[in-house]
Amino acid sequence: MIKRLIDKVFGRKGADRPVVIAAPEHGIRRDQISHGARRVCEQLQENGFAAYVVGGAVRDLLLGVEPKDFDVATSATPEQVHRVLRRSRLIGRRFKLVHALFGNEVVEVSTFRAGAPESGDTESPAQVVDEHGRVLRDNVYGTRQEDAARRDFTINSLYYDPVAETVLDYHKGLADLRKKTVRMIGDPARRYREDPVRMLRAVRFAARPGFHIAPKTAAPIAELASLLGNVPAARLFEEMLKLLLSGNAAACVRQLRAQGLHHGLLPMLDVILEQPMGERFVTLALEQTDRRVRDDKPISPAFLFAALLWHQVLAAWKQAMERGERSIPALHEAMDLVLDQQTDQLAIPRRFTVTMKEIWGLQPRLDANTGRRPHLLLEHPRFRAAFDFLALRAESGEAPTELVDWWARFQVAGATEREHMLLPAAAGSSPRRRRRRRPSGDRGAPEGGADVAERSTSDHDHKAD
Ligand code: ATP
Ligand code: MG
Repeated sequence: MIKRLIDKVFGRKGADRPVVIAAPEHGIRRDQISHGARRVCEQLQENGFAAYVVGGAVRDLLLGVEPKDFDVATSATPEQVHRVLRRSRLIGRRFKLVHALFGNEVVEVSTFRAGAPESGDTESPAQVVDEHGRVLRDNVYGTRQEDAARRDFTINSLYYDPVAETVLDYHKGLADLRKKTVRMIGDPARRYREDPVRMLRAVRFAARPGFHIAPKTAAPIAELASLLGNVPAARLFEEMLKLLLSGNAAACVRQLRAQGLHHGLLPMLDVILEQPMGERFVTLALEQTDRRVRDDKPISPAFLFAALLWHQVLAAWKQAMERGERSIPALHEAMDLVLDQQTDQLAIPRRFTVTMKEIWGLQPRLDANTGRRPHLLLEHPRFRAAFDFLALRAESGEAPTELVDWWARFQVAGATEREHMLLPAAAGSSPRRRRRRRPSGDRGAPEGGADVAERSTSDHDHKAD
């Protein structure tokens, strides 16, 4: 009965019994599982429940990648989990989950759940969908096989039992993992309708080196891309952040464009990427982020979003100036405009937008390396981020390289050298002399002027040599 129902819903046969893969074949060692996740599985099993490490951790271990975190799925209800695991708390509104605490580690424990019913089926009261088929709430507990079927991709639907040391595979996930294929479980179009965020997840996993989306899984995306518009802006931001911090951000953004998914996220991306300088700037920012993620260095999401939206700000800034606004008020107007437009699509939290504005707002000030202001600027809490941003602008050809060099020297210089650097005669080859000839209203104006273009090209050529 259940099998027939699953076959009907997911159009797949043979998915009700998993293939059991033993240790020699899967190669996962028990000691690769975090202490917390192992203890959760052991304790739940000792109390008669089924419990497995699931999802991304199993996928990553099979790929030889160190998992970010370990999630556990179990047959125990959240209340039962809470009773078995002393240091745990119940959380979640959309889904009830348990967070189990082991020292510093938090293990997320979720109860096996069933997927959304096929449209037309009688809706159970715990499942609510919107008019596009998007699941708004599903708290229906299910069997292990139902839990496997409601997961998104075959490679994310593998269950590792750290006690028996076996991997359970319901949807040929291991084979897909070896083929580096992202394949949706069930009917892709229906599953995207249930949760359009799965389109972004497909892109994120497919951006890993060597991975691709299975043709049938990719096919409906272009047509359904607009459904991302119905997803709450805060959730989109979270997913976008995961994508950008995945270590494959440059590839992800290329994939987003290829799948036509970026419109609902960063609406100007196409326009920006069509301009050589904009494309170079965004690409450099993403590649730099990817390098930092791979080197385990911290990433500032504010810096990254500031970079992604910078050329949009530049365009709006230029427009405001053309309307006769003075440079600095025009910049502030441009920043607000761009952030307002962005909020409708993908809500960047305020804690980030505040920093983004500081980074943007400091750019014209970095251009003004005269008087006492450079000293003051060094004290600014966002100086370092703003300086790094300037360096990125210079690398993309938008700002003069000498300005970056000047600030780099000024930061480390002693008091006497600093005074010397600030003397008009000391300007020498610094961009200051050139700027002083320009009317003050032009300071920090957006690019587009002939002299900036000329300079950028030569800077760029120089760097490339
Ligand atoms: P990451 O490495 O980014 O954590 P992940 O696959 O572990 O990747 P999570 O968001 O942690 O992603 O989700 C854990 C698991 O839950 C997934 O592997 C997948 O099985 C399931 N899952 C997550 N999001 C969805 C979704 N939108 N639809 C269906 N299943 C999902
Ligand atoms: Mg995960």
